[in-house]
Amino acid sequence: MPAGNSQSLLVVGSIAFDSIETPSASVDDALGGSATYFSYAASFFTPPRLVGVVGEDFPDEHRQLLVKRGVDASGLVTLPGKTFRWKARYHQDMNTRDTLEVHLNVLEEFDPQLPESFRDSTHVFLANSSPALQAKVLGQIRRPELVLADTMDLWIQGQRQDLLALLPRLDGLLLNDSEARLLTGEDNLVRAAQAVRRLGPKFVILKKGEHGAMLCTRDGVFVMPAYPSEEVVDPTGAGDSFAGGILGYLTADGSPPPGRLRRAMAYGTVIASLTVEGFGLDRLKRAERSEIDKRLETYRAMLAF
Ligand code: AMP
Repeated sequence: MPAGNSQSLLVVGSIAFDSIETPSASVDDALGGSATYFSYAASFFTPPRLVGVVGEDFPDEHRQLLVKRGVDASGLVTLPGKTFRWKARYHQDMNTRDTLEVHLNVLEEFDPQLPESFRDSTHVFLANSSPALQAKVLGQIRRPELVLADTMDLWIQGQRQDLLALLPRLDGLLLNDSEARLLTGEDNLVRAAQAVRRLGPKFVILKKGEHGAMLCTRDGVFVMPAYPSEEVVDPTGAGDSFAGGILGYLTADGSPPPGRLRRAMAYGTVIASLTVEGFGLDRLKRAERSEIDKRLETYRAMLAF
């Protein structure tokens, strides 16, 4: 599991209690959050460093679940008050969801101070959280080699200036199709992704749910379909575990650059496909690295022509 090199991966983002309704079932107060899904997924490749905040209501068993995966939780702070809460309902097609409630709670007051041991991180994921919080964390890392961020409509609409200030400091930005349209005003996704690149990041990865992902770099466009899962139980966390697979792989793998980002996206795709096959982290908790590698080979065969 651990990386055999001196590269290290840091993530900052939300740690949450999620309440989720799908057309066939629902769950209350499941462990979720962007940083949780990301670090669990990345832990198949490298032991990630987690920066985040929870309230006094956060049970130790959740923390232990991550620690047992090798996650370094010394940047996980407990503040007086309640943990971030999020409630959402999926439509019949499972591709669209409505956010019903967002309670930032302790996330609102969180002023991250990175442990000294985290400041030499080489790979950084600024998972979905306010761009101001993302910038504060990034500013404390000495010489990051690769910085990726995620964002969402809430911040594009509510904290646009902070987000625009952050974009030139990124190597890559991940966002979904509707968010790219919202950020740029472009309806066509290729044009939207290119317009996002002009705002600063060197590359953009557009997430398109069951239609996969599109990478847009200076050299052009690369597309990758989603792994066709027969059973989609709960899509929550697909985007964050996709990112966890990408950065986990890139941190742990020392192979030469050509095709690395594409291979990383393939791993991210496969891990995301496992995530959606259960509620919350249920399915990922049952996964082994060998299963991920096996599914990667099946996926590779599906793409060969
Ligand atoms: P995904 O399905 O990959 O988009 O991620 C879903 C996760 O994002 C859930 O576990 C939520 O707890 C978390 N989340 C939802 N809204 C926010 C927000 N405004 N800030 C941070 N995390 C959020």
